Amino acid sequence: MKAIAILGSTGSIGTQTLDIVEHHPDQFRVVGLAAGNNVDLLAAQVRQFKPDIVAIQNERKLPDLKAAIADLDPQPIILAGQAGVVEVARYGDSTSVVTGIVGCAGLLPTLAAIEAGKDIALANKETLIAGAPVVLPLVEKHGTKLLPADSEHSAIFQCLQGVPAGGLRRIILTASGGAFRDLPVEKLAQVTVADALKHPNWSMGQKITIDSATLMNKGLEVIEAHYLFGMDYDHIDIVIHPQSIIHSLIEVQDTSVLAQLGWADMRLPLLYALSYPDRLPTQWEPLDLVKAGDLTFREPDHAKYPCMQLAYAAGRAGGAMPAVLNAANEQVVALFLEEKVKFVAIPQLIEQVCDRFTAQNMSQPTLEDILEADRWARQAAIEALDALEKTTVALR
Ligand code: NDP
Repeated sequence: MKAIAILGSTGSIGTQTLDIVEHHPDQFRVVGLAAGNNVDLLAAQVRQFKPDIVAIQNERKLPDLKAAIADLDPQPIILAGQAGVVEVARYGDSTSVVTGIVGCAGLLPTLAAIEAGKDIALANKETLIAGAPVVLPLVEKHGTKLLPADSEHSAIFQCLQGVPAGGLRRIILTASGGAFRDLPVEKLAQVTVADALKHPNWSMGQKITIDSATLMNKGLEVIEAHYLFGMDYDHIDIVIHPQSIIHSLIEVQDTSVLAQLGWADMRLPLLYALSYPDRLPTQWEPLDLVKAGDLTFREPDHAKYPCMQLAYAAGRAGGAMPAVLNAANEQVVALFLEEKVKFVAIPQLIEQVCDRFTAQNMSQPTLEDILEADRWARQAAIEALDALEKTTVALR
């Protein structure tokens, strides 16, 4: 029986992880749950899974959470705020922590979990992208495992099993192409938030769905792959694969290419991150290649989707630049979701923030540097929007 904690339990990753626990009660036990705001769902999860500790990030919701589970006996430890989420991450005898918080808000809890010796089932890619210069040395120091739960990185990780050290030559990340993959570039100027939230293949949280529509998600995954697998950026490629059946591929030194296939279902990478190195039996629908039909591939369109190149450039710059790119993206996507920025202005604003940061680049950032870069980039994104508003370009 593996004891696990789930950060972001009320989100898409969190609820799918709990679905796995529900169907494997003899394999997994939930020790801790943490969420942001959703008291009703969090309280229902506490009732069902009976964790030892629970936290809600929004401190104003603490009385509601306490009231919603007041009749439970025994009572879990109930905490609030970021400190509460950090406490869940490092609490007790959990061996794995699933990081399903969205954004760089996951960084401090993830660091706390690593320092407490927990393995990380990493869904929260923003944490690694922004924080790799501190996350990776800490993983090394504490001898914990960073197990990818992102479907592409799980696919690469699965393909790598049995490949000897030095055997990997190239990583090929597949991309669905997002909401606008078949839309002509000139129509992007008119798309709405609702349009961008219609992902063709995956049902996910809002932020990652917008990142999929801009293909920034794939750019972030390039940086994630660089840090997870130590591959240089010249050997990480992106290919559009609209069916999302092949979740990514690796090329080894003799040119053999290995792929991992499956239906578009995040529970599979999550299960593997939790059960690694074992393979647990499931009742999920097996892949039927005939039913899956044609598998097609095409070049990504970098002119239509500049975010991919912005991510490659930030990754190559290294240091705190990926943290800046990530924070600028988080801020601009939040503004887009509030309908304050047009879709086509997203890469424009992020590029301006990254360009401004070049002068003050931090090559070997500490945690404080990364948090400062994150704060700076969010503010710089707002300033970039103000400047854009003054020129009345690209705004509604
Ligand atoms: P969701 O928006 O669906 O869920 C986010 C979760 O994080 C919610 O439980 C939310 O709580 C919680 N949360 C937000 N801010 C905080 C905070 N400051 N402290 C504690 N909890 C917080 O996102 P997803 O599940 O889609 O994505 C989560 C992460 O996984 C992202 O990094 C994403 O890139 C990655 N990922 C997701 C995939 C997917 O299929 N969804 C696929 C691959 C990667 P509440 O709702 O209660 O406010």
